[in-house]
Amino acid sequence: MRNIVVAGNWKMNTHREEATSLIDGVLREAGNFGGVDVVLFPPYLFLDMAVQKCRKSGIGVGAQNAFYKKRGAYTGEISPVMLRDIGCDYVILGHSERRHYFDETNAIINKKMKSCLEAGLTPVLCIGETLTQRQQGKTFDILNDQIVYGLEGIDGSFIKKTIIAYEPVWAIGTGISASITKAQEAHEYIRKTIESFTDTEAAGQIRILYGGSVNTKNARELLEEDDIDGALVGGASLKPESFCEIVKSGKATSQPILGRTGYQR
Ligand code: PEP
Repeated sequence: MRNIVVAGNWKMNTHREEATSLIDGVLREAGNFGGVDVVLFPPYLFLDMAVQKCRKSGIGVGAQNAFYKKRGAYTGEISPVMLRDIGCDYVILGHSERRHYFDETNAIINKKMKSCLEAGLTPVLCIGETLTQRQQGKTFDILNDQIVYGLEGIDGSFIKKTIIAYEPVWAIGTGISASITKAQEAHEYIRKTIESFTDTEAAGQIRILYGGSVNTKNARELLEEDDIDGALVGGASLKPESFCEIVKSGKATSQPILGRTGYQR
């Protein structure tokens, strides 16, 4: 069975005071999140505070990126080992903004995946096509490359612990989410692709989140789909009210479902 995950990617937003009240606002509702794995991804500066505040609440904390080296002369970088050391459990890797603005390739992301898994972090590997790629009919080829090269050389026992986030680039921050049909179709493709090079256990256990303009209105419908195991939320995670409502939508859909891919959620 796959637990629903609702994760908030704050990106490069919030100052100390905003971050504090955002965490506190989510914590006030934590008692109503039963059964959903809730994870916050604040900027690096507020990770330590988030870890301290969320301790014992059941809410996980993760970083939005990590470098693949453990330590050394890499000015400005943060290593997976450092993140573990302060109590982070998760890390987002390969977000489209990092692929686009920081030229992160599948090969770099693969190195980061290996290093984060080795350090004991749960990576949330983001994949997704651009609008042009979709219009050119290349969506599945792009997803295939990002999955196969992103997970290359990683054992099935680690793959099943990984989280994938399908985030069509054209849906991120635009207010236009993928339709339920397009999202489910992509998620089904991702699960089958993973099955093709790992094993049925990994394909059945890996959680595949949808991300891209998830809000309080569309969350429930998306999360009811067989192969959508949660949401990576950007803009709507910056207000505790909307983020907590999305978590509650996840809770409402968290009963086991036998999916079209034959795996039970
Ligand atoms: C994101 O960038 O991870 C994201 C999902 O953003 P938004 O919800 O704002 O589209």
